[in-house]
Amino acid sequence: MKKLLTAIAIAAIAGTASAYPDKPVTIVVPFAAGGPTDKVARDLAEVLRKGLNNQTVIIENVGGAGGTLGAAKVAKASPDGHTLLLHHIGMATSPALYRKLPYDTANDFEYLGMVNEVPMTLVGRSTLPAANFAELRKWIDANKGKINLANAGLGAASHLCGLLFQQSMGVDMTTVPYKGTAPAMTDLLGGQVDLMCDQTTNTTGQIESGKIKAFAVTSTKRLSTPVLAKLPTLDESGLKGFNVSIWHGLYAPKGTPKAVVDQVNAALRNALKDPEFIKRQEALGAVIVTDGRLAGAEHKKFVESEIAKWGPAIKAAGQYAD
Ligand code: ASP
Repeated sequence: MKKLLTAIAIAAIAGTASAYPDKPVTIVVPFAAGGPTDKVARDLAEVLRKGLNNQTVIIENVGGAGGTLGAAKVAKASPDGHTLLLHHIGMATSPALYRKLPYDTANDFEYLGMVNEVPMTLVGRSTLPAANFAELRKWIDANKGKINLANAGLGAASHLCGLLFQQSMGVDMTTVPYKGTAPAMTDLLGGQVDLMCDQTTNTTGQIESGKIKAFAVTSTKRLSTPVLAKLPTLDESGLKGFNVSIWHGLYAPKGTPKAVVDQVNAALRNALKDPEFIKRQEALGAVIVTDGRLAGAEHKKFVESEIAKWGPAIKAAGQYAD
């Protein structure tokens, strides 16, 4: 009898421990399908599910308004761990860019941990009459007032990078917002827009196939992947101090139970050790996080430092949306 009761107690505990997730988990990506944030999420979903009772992990693309619509959706979702958010640096830039954000960055989310850091590239349509950054600079000078610069909306990484690029060049361009850089890339491939900054995870394949032109990387260090190693940095190309590198993090609605937060954090840590995931990410120029920012609290501190870093630059540029 005692043995039976013990077995029932163990089963009950085990039942409690594995109760989450008891249905598919949705990761909201606040940008269009097929873009860089979406690609990270889809790769991550495959490995994350191993730590989530092997439940299906569904990606839901909620693009628009530079990632703020998707983030707002998760902020308001049921805090049970079945709706998560994979966001990028926009988590830190949107507070300065939007006068009224539809969520509170610091208080509406549980910070689950950081995923990766991804440099960006300055790319252009293949028909641009420039083979390198020096030639691009001449073309930009000769075409002031006529240049289109694509981005994924106010608050997106491409917007931030494009903003700094225009400031550093002292040239105003017409910015063309999309719901993510996947549709922007389609138009860049079609020659409807001239230039874009985008994560290496999205541009590497297109650069390799020669369908777009790459002029520089936006980090302060050159990159080492075979496709990107030949590109100069914007800093060494004359735009002194230019440095935009982005990152991705995972979030849940505020109030998600601690046991669930801990389980997703453990699943994330394991996912980031998966050799196939690491290989795929590194081939595209991404660097997997291995430091303290894997912990939710440390990641939150990092986001706060990014808010402090970018806020003044964005405000100085006078960029706001209501
Ligand atoms: N790369 C986009 C950005 O500029 C977002 C995306 O589509 O993943 O922020």
